[in-house]
Amino acid sequence: MTPFLAAADLQELKTYCLDHNFPAFRASQIDSWLHTHCVIDPQNMKNLPNDLKNALQQDFLAPASRITEISTSPDQVEKLLLELHDGECIEMVIIPTEKRLTFCLSTQVGCPVGCRFCASGRNGLTRNLTAGEMLEEFCIGTLRAGRPDNLVFMGIGEGLLNFEQLAITLNRLVDEFTFSPRRITVSTSGYVPGMKKFAAMKREFNLAVSLHAPDDNTRAKLIPAKLRYPVAEILAAADEIAIANNRQYTLEYTLIHGINDSIDHAVKLGKLAFAHHAKINLIPYNETGGEFHRPPLTVIENFENAILDTGARVTRRTERGSSKTAACGQLRASKNTGNNR
Ligand code: SAH
Ligand code: SF4
Repeated sequence: MTPFLAAADLQELKTYCLDHNFPAFRASQIDSWLHTHCVIDPQNMKNLPNDLKNALQQDFLAPASRITEISTSPDQVEKLLLELHDGECIEMVIIPTEKRLTFCLSTQVGCPVGCRFCASGRNGLTRNLTAGEMLEEFCIGTLRAGRPDNLVFMGIGEGLLNFEQLAITLNRLVDEFTFSPRRITVSTSGYVPGMKKFAAMKREFNLAVSLHAPDDNTRAKLIPAKLRYPVAEILAAADEIAIANNRQYTLEYTLIHGINDSIDHAVKLGKLAFAHHAKINLIPYNETGGEFHRPPLTVIENFENAILDTGARVTRRTERGSSKTAACGQLRASKNTGNNR
């Protein structure tokens, strides 16, 4: 397959230039366009000669993705629909606040985990994203909104089921794009084999675990058995990552009315988080037209207070993005592109 220019490192650029009879300093120029300025289209690398621009264009996918739709919410959250080189679609979200700029990136086209409340997994997995495609999300976002302060892999897909390409992406972001690992968060639904590989990277990335339930019975109502692991195994793997990465982790908890929002759930969750030195992030459910509903505000507040009483730390995700397309995968799902299997 044709390589993605966005995933090339300096060494590969040097080899390419030498193999194609261009002087080595040209590799440094391409490197600077790509890794300092996030320019992936060779035609926009202004100080390169035309024959090199054309050679790069021919030998690499550069760029391979394009923005086909932008949905902007009143609070300036932008959700970009990106069309990939094979016509598939993914989303990325640009989230500005007063203090910082965050990008939420996708890791797969669709998702095989199929959580019952999530639009991304509704049609299963179409394919994994390559590192080049994930890095293009980063570059496209940067060209549009400036360099982000934080990156979260919380878009479409379960990144740890696409570990090899995700690991290349993470390493390139740190080593080539000089992005701090402490400002990158990988979110997982608790895919334990992938979590163990993530721990083995031993870099200071952040981890978010989408727990959604403090016990296996409640969890079974939300996540199909195929890729679901026991809560105890997930937390043991998360602890391993916390030690390897020297970072505390976050437990993501999507609050769904009548399923996981009782005071009993809150107390159990708080105790687990406290025991594991983890922070809790509550995400009031964004309705996606299925069987589940968001709890009333009083229920959410009581849940949060019951957690605080256990001594655990808890935050609540503030409402960002337009209601119709706020949750991951909703914009793509609403397009019904016909490509998602
Ligand atoms: N697959 C990974 C990362 C992508 S999902 C994971 O599951 O962690 C990122 C987060 O969005 C998860 O915590 C997920 O539970 C949450 N989410 C998905 N659909 C949602 C919805 N409709 N409302 C609220 N949160 C949702
Ligand atoms: Fe996949 Fe995460 Fe959605 Fe579950 S919540 S279906 S793991 S993207």
